[in-house]
Amino acid sequence: MTARTQQLQHSRQQVQQRIQNACIDGKRNPDEVNLLAVSKTKPFTDILAMAQAGQQDFGENYLQEALDKITQAPQLTWHFIGPIQSNKTRPIAENFAWVHSVDRVKIARRLSEQRPTDLPPLKILLAVNIDQETSKSGFTPQELHDAVAEISHLPNITLRGLMTIPKARDDFSEQRAVFAKMKHLLDKLQQQNPQLQLDQLSMGMSGDLEAAIFEGATWVRIGTDLFGARNYSLQT
Ligand SMILES: *Cc1c(COP(=O)(O)O)cnc(C)c1O
Repeated sequence: MTARTQQLQHSRQQVQQRIQNACIDGKRNPDEVNLLAVSKTKPFTDILAMAQAGQQDFGENYLQEALDKITQAPQLTWHFIGPIQSNKTRPIAENFAWVHSVDRVKIARRLSEQRPTDLPPLKILLAVNIDQETSKSGFTPQELHDAVAEISHLPNITLRGLMTIPKARDDFSEQRAVFAKMKHLLDKLQQQNPQLQLDQLSMGMSGDLEAAIFEGATWVRIGTDLFGARNYSLQT
């Protein structure tokens, strides 16, 4: 085993320990909290090492980089978590199991049209601009009700819940307050749409996974604390 493989296995164990502790403290069932390894900018050898350590789910932000990796490891479960240009939806519809970053009804429509019918339905989450930042994409909380009504009847995709990337906050109770708003939005949508299975909340990253788990996260998306800091200058 290489030193890098050992390092990655160790960091995964540490993150899983944090998740377990947060589940205990936050009274969550650990079976309902999943670790998504965010591997953007990281080499394929890192992904293989993580997979050898037992990691099944990987998240990627950049389409071409993701496709290169998926071709080499189609047996892993791939999640698209980056910004989506509407002319790039086809390869996303064809190559991923999950999309966390659906930020417009138009994108959902295209993914639905372009999802190959011989694959299981694409599982999607709606990105919520929870802090209502003008610089950020995503649905505002007020837009969600109508968006769900339009998206939920589309074929070949299954709407499963919500995702968010809040502003970075240091204070634990402030982090929790934002994630609690997300949980409230999801619960309200589920009540309004009892025929749907809206049970997934993608929230929490390296700096705030504990707060997210306390408030109901089912996917924590972890990059830095699994793979180390990203060096964007190495990207092609
Ligand atoms: C990069 C990224 C992450 C991982 O963030 P870390 O702070 O490195 O854990 C999670 N979610 C999204 C959408 C990302 O782009």
